[in-house]
Order: sequence, then C-alpha cells, then structure tokens
Amino acid sequence: MQNAALAALGLGEEWSYEAIDVAPEDFEARVRAMAGEGFAGANVTVPHKEAALALADVSSEVAREIGATNTLVFADGRVDAHNTDAGGLIATLPGSPRARRALVLGAGGAARAAIWALSASGTVVDVSGVDVWNRTRARADAVYAELGRYVELGGAPVESLRQDSYGIIVNTTAVGLHGEDPFAHLPLDRSGFDAEQVVVDMVYGDAPSPLLAAAESAGATTVDGLEILVQQGALSLRIWTGREAPLDVMRTAAYSLGNS
Ligand code: NAP
Repeated sequence: MQNAALAALGLGEEWSYEAIDVAPEDFEARVRAMAGEGFAGANVTVPHKEAALALADVSSEVAREIGATNTLVFADGRVDAHNTDAGGLIATLPGSPRARRALVLGAGGAARAAIWALSASGTVVDVSGVDVWNRTRARADAVYAELGRYVELGGAPVESLRQDSYGIIVNTTAVGLHGEDPFAHLPLDRSGFDAEQVVVDMVYGDAPSPLLAAAESAGATTVDGLEILVQQGALSLRIWTGREAPLDVMRTAAYSLGNS
C-alpha cells in the first residue's frame, strides 16, 4: 500500500517502505539505529506502540494522550512520535448520525485510539458518552481512568450492556482475526443491530467480517478495518513526505492484499 502510494507520487526511486520484524528486547536499539541507516520514519505496530512512545524525544499531544504511537519520524537526530490510528478512524466515520452513546469493545492499543477519537472535541462524531467493554474488566477500568484524564468520556467501563442503546459500536478486540465467531466472544447479539447504528470492525481480512455482515443485514452503516488501515497509512505518508496521499491507489493495493 505504501510502496504503491510512493510510486504514484513519483517517489518510488528515492523512497521505499519495508517490513521489519523486531523483538521487544531489541526494539529501542533498532529504532535508534534507523535514522543512521537512511530511514525517514517508521510505522510501529503491536506490541511496540507503547515502547515507541516511551523512547521518543518529542511526541504529539494526540500520541501522548492516547498513550501509544504508530508513526515515528527521524529528523535532526531526534525520534518524533505521532498517532494516526485515531485520525484514520475519524476519517472513516460518517458525519454524526445522532447523539447517542458509543461502545468500544477492547482495551488494547486500538481501543485507546478509538476511545480518544470518539471523545475528542471537534471530531465529526457527536456521541453523548463512550462506554468500554473488555474481556478482562481490569484493563477496561485502567484505560478508562487513564484516558479520562485528557478527554471527556461521559460513559463508563461496562460488563453487561444493551446493544440497542448505542449509536456507534467499535470492535477493537482481536476477535475475528483468526476466524473466531464474534458473537461467541463479544457481548453482542447477531440480530441486535439496527439501521440507525454505525458499526466499525477494526479487524480486517476478507471483507465483510461476520460482525459487519450481521450489522449490514440490519441496515446499519458499517466501517471496515481495511479502510481505517488505508486512512491511517495515508496520514502517516503525509507526515513523512509532506505530500497528499493518493487514497485510491492505497485502497486498491490494500484491498487486493486483503482479498488475496
Ligand atoms: P492488543 O493491544 O493486543 O489488544 C487486544 C484486545 O483484544 C484486548 O482488549 C483483548 O482483551 C481482546 N481480545 C483478544 N482475544 C479476545 C477474545 N477471544 N475475546 C475477547 N477479547 C479478546 O491489540 P490492538 O493493538 O488493540 O489491536 C486489536 C485489533 O485491532 C487487532 O486485530 C488489530 O489487527 C486491529 N487493528 C486494526 C487497525 C486498523 O488500522 N484497521 C489498527 C490497529 C489495530 P484482553 O484484555 O482480555 O486480553
């Protein structure tokens, strides 16, 4: 996706994007060496997003509030940390359906970005509060307390819930990544969606996921994790190159991989 975008921008000769596998114990040394190896920046994913923020010399307010970074920039001997996961999600959300509560399922890195995105003022989404459910309740409590220091959450960590009370439901758990049935692992009912809801599945793969398929058949508006991946990647590309990302090119590349 990123290489397709770089080629479309005429930067394919100078720039390239590659995947690097690194163990947690080697992460900091690896990142610090990258600037000297000609890297302009990096995306960071599980399980390094918090460690990357901790080692950064400078971090954006959004990355600090979310407590994780997915985008690093190497410049002037510094490591700068940004977070485009939240912006990527915001870019995919339809304009405020109506002020109802939001439900975030999960309490990992993706959940933190989603909770922040749904709560931050000035975004397109108009929610009256954000509830958080997580399999391990203590993690939901911790995430809620931490993010609540920065943004007005207006909801609560929840153990049981009424699915029809939410205007937007965001699955940020890893459920579905390996083909698990979301309705066996999450507190959602397959037939409990309605046409007024927006349902987001951060997990991506062969679209649509069973979660989105059920939501779609009830007439809900759905947002696929692959589109969020494209949008966060586009924001990262803009940070590194200063150029507007060719979204269609990135989408085509991402969807062709997602369906391969
Ligand atoms: P993470 O920090 O490892 O968190 C994983 C979350 O999934 C935790 O809340 C965990 O609950 C929950 N979980 C795992 N297995 C579960 C199960 N069987 N039943 C119920 N809950 C379960 O991972 P992350 O970084 O937040 O990423 C989560 C997912 O979002 C991944 O699939 C990732 O690919 C996706 N993601 C997508 C994008 C995108 O651009 N589309 C961006 C970021 C992440 P516990 O706390 O109880 O373990």
